[in-house]
Amino acid sequence: MDASWYVLLALLLGLTIGGGSAALLSIAAQRGRQVMAIATEPIPDGIAAMVDVLESAGIVFDGSNQVILASPGADALDLVDGRELRSREIMDAVRRVWRTGEAEVLDIAYRRGRIGVGTELQLRARVAPLGNRFMLVLVSDRTEELRLAGVRRDFVANVSHELKTPIGALTLLSEAIEAAAEDPVRVRAFSQRMQVEAERLGRMTKELIDLSRIQADDPLDDAERFSIAQVVDVAVDRNAVLAEAKRMVILPRVLDDAQVLGSEELVTMAVQNLITNAVQHSPAATHVGVGVRVVDEVVEIAVTDNGAGIAPEDHERVFERFYRIDPARSRVTGGTGLGLSIVKHVAISHGGEVRLWSHPGQGSTFTLRLPAAATRKEIA
Ligand code: ADP
Repeated sequence: MDASWYVLLALLLGLTIGGGSAALLSIAAQRGRQVMAIATEPIPDGIAAMVDVLESAGIVFDGSNQVILASPGADALDLVDGRELRSREIMDAVRRVWRTGEAEVLDIAYRRGRIGVGTELQLRARVAPLGNRFMLVLVSDRTEELRLAGVRRDFVANVSHELKTPIGALTLLSEAIEAAAEDPVRVRAFSQRMQVEAERLGRMTKELIDLSRIQADDPLDDAERFSIAQVVDVAVDRNAVLAEAKRMVILPRVLDDAQVLGSEELVTMAVQNLITNAVQHSPAATHVGVGVRVVDEVVEIAVTDNGAGIAPEDHERVFERFYRIDPARSRVTGGTGLGLSIVKHVAISHGGEVRLWSHPGQGSTFTLRLPAAATRKEIA
């Protein structure tokens, strides 16, 4: 083959490759224009209005997976960053739904906040095509719902376990009475123990009802204004018989009186529980102090005893339901393990907290801290 043929062949080859590339480029450009058109396509009015009124977080994507609409709920959950969705798992689901056309529901754990120290939320996302040009993602926050379900499960398990003990004791004692029917001394002894167990059962039932009431209602919804000095008076008075039986003195010391907003009955119950504990966990003939002062518009009610004290590793746990440091001793005092969890819930539901200072052998100080009414009013 002479040189001119080579030139001709090279020319033809060049033309074919060039033409092919040009065709490919033109197809690609056309696709690109389509994507741009979708991305910049105006959002139909109905969709924008719908996303605006959504109770859960709503996000609409265009065909190029760019966020074109996000409801205020989506911002609150910190799901969107500009035109991007922060959650990779939801984004993967969006891509799958584009491919399959089948709506998906997925549950994910999501950390709010960019630096990864925020609380982990439990989210449920529903991904569904919106016509054939948009994708809708609805996200609901199930964190609180799941937490409450867990609390309820633990609670039911604990309650049934705790109720079994006195009920079992009552059954055994009644059998013992039947067997000792001819022996009045033993019958009397058994029936006295039956009374103790029955009282314990009664106290536990009452405290359980109190606790579930505090957890169900918000005392600030129907708040009354009351004096802490009055609360302390009543709580001390309700412990007078118990203290007398142990030759103990309760010394109230109200430095500042203050008003608190909430439920007087519940706050009285909390202070009363703290004083009862102080009396019950202290040796006979000692003192219990109840101090009230206002620090930075926070009312502090501190109950101090010279009792056994609490080791640091138990400081958190004593506030758990049914937790007792010494269950055997608590059987003697008739403790239910619910008193401090009631105190903690009363504090939280009034926007306050309980603090504990204690060391074994050095006594304890439980401080109930509640916002003074004036502060709450100013904030409102
Ligand atoms: P209880 O009905 O058993 O007193 P609480 O929830 O009130 O239940 O208290 C939980 C546990 O914390 C008690 O069993 C006891 O071991 C410990 N405790 C509470 N108050 C005091 C106190 N003032 N001094 C020492 N221990 C205490």
